[in-house]
Amino acid sequence: MSCDVGLYGLAVMGQNFALNMAEHGFTVAVCNRSPGKVDDTVERAKGEGNLPLLGFKDPKDFVQALKRPRRIVILVQAGKPVDDTIAHLSGFLEAGDLIVDGGNEWFPNSQRRAELLRPKGILFMGMGISGGEEGARKGPSLMPGGEPGAYELMEPIITKCAAQVDDGPCTFNIGPVGSGNYVKMVHNGIEYGDMQMIAETYDLLKQLGGLTNAELATTFTSWNETELASFLIEITGIIFTKADDQGAPGELVDYILDKTGMKGTGRWTIQEAAERNSPACVMAAALDARYISARKDERVAAEAILKGPTDPTPAVDKAAFVADVRAALFCSKVVSYAQGMNLIRSAGQELGWPIDLAECARIWKGGCIIRAAFLDDIKKAFQQNPALPNLLVDPYFSSMLNSRTAAWRRVVQLAVVSGIAAPAISAALAYFDSYRRGSLPANLTQAQRDFFGGHSYQRTDRDGVFHCEWTSAH
Ligand code: NAP
Repeated sequence: MSCDVGLYGLAVMGQNFALNMAEHGFTVAVCNRSPGKVDDTVERAKGEGNLPLLGFKDPKDFVQALKRPRRIVILVQAGKPVDDTIAHLSGFLEAGDLIVDGGNEWFPNSQRRAELLRPKGILFMGMGISGGEEGARKGPSLMPGGEPGAYELMEPIITKCAAQVDDGPCTFNIGPVGSGNYVKMVHNGIEYGDMQMIAETYDLLKQLGGLTNAELATTFTSWNETELASFLIEITGIIFTKADDQGAPGELVDYILDKTGMKGTGRWTIQEAAERNSPACVMAAALDARYISARKDERVAAEAILKGPTDPTPAVDKAAFVADVRAALFCSKVVSYAQGMNLIRSAGQELGWPIDLAECARIWKGGCIIRAAFLDDIKKAFQQNPALPNLLVDPYFSSMLNSRTAAWRRVVQLAVVSGIAAPAISAALAYFDSYRRGSLPANLTQAQRDFFGGHSYQRTDRDGVFHCEWTSAH
């Protein structure tokens, strides 16, 4: 009984997170279904500075090597493998022990597992981990939601192993079981939106601005010194400089097939947004863009049938266009994060999780894929006003948006006129233009609903609920 913490599941994430914990001075016991990965992890621990890590091939020995109350982080494939692993390990656990699932899990699965373990007194936590392989090793953003007492057991470990930013470790006690998975899910939805919006700016800058890969690299690299500073902008700048690694002329990016893969967390976010009646048009546009990209053969066939604009593409001043696209990207990002934050809040209100949105923004400042300078401004906005109905009306963000809308409109207009799809950036502008208007054409929708379904409506000039006989004379 000598190890501080156990880690079961030694693929990319598990191996790296185990080494991260060991590097922070915790003695880590590791185990995996296939024993080869146990040997690999032990070898890595030796090679990376003789880190305190012990390998076990038998799950019972693994569990028995842990100090009580035992803390076990599981990092296996989400879904049934997590159930199988819990069933297997829990047979050796006792009341007071804790299982933490670090996978990308659908939050009701975590709630179900917590309920299953509760009668045995075994605590459960679902903890989203973001940052990929490098984050897991060097400091990820950790989004834990657990049974009462679970966070306290993990706090000494996760506050040390998380990425560290100017205002603390990139983790906090998000709330009950499921809430950590939820925040991680929305993080991934936002990630989809960010990636799509960056892809759209690339398309516009290349097709309309005529930027070469070298110019794109310079542009994104310089944007990384501005209000757009973020991990995804940084790596985008690097991608445009990478020569083809198979010896073909030019850059690798131009040889990559335009079909996007995905693992499902973006889809969950959109399903959840619909469930919570929470607008999420930027993330939905990003998800749709992935679906359309996957239909490569259909698109190639359609190219010969469907026509784009016949008018010549408008000429643009390169420098001015780059500045406009930068403004459009920033505004669209603000909309996307506003929608993500509102989704977390809606779910929190319905599910009884009082989630601190300022803290969510803070823990995304480091370690994770969406880390970005402007998350500090989002944190401040929700700190100043936790009841802020929408990030768009925060004084700082409203002034940033208002001073950029002309550029944002010019970009969307040019995209439409030129027949270049910019679905996420356009959807963000449509949301902005809907949200900022006190009156919408929903009066007509209500009239139609009442006409065909007797659904009734309210009036602008008097209280009450009304129904009209639409085809009668009076
Ligand atoms: P993964 O490819 O999702 O899963 C592989 C691991 O699952 C292996 O250790 C495998 O064991 C184990 N496994 C599969 N079925 C099993 C079963 N029935 N019983 C026991 N173990 C089983 O691994 P990963 O990429 O490291 O991801 C782990 C979790 O973190 C996932 O939920 C993933 O979504 C999440 N995540 C991944 C990333 C990333 O960048 N990869 C980032 C954030 C979050 P064997 O070795 O025996 O096959």
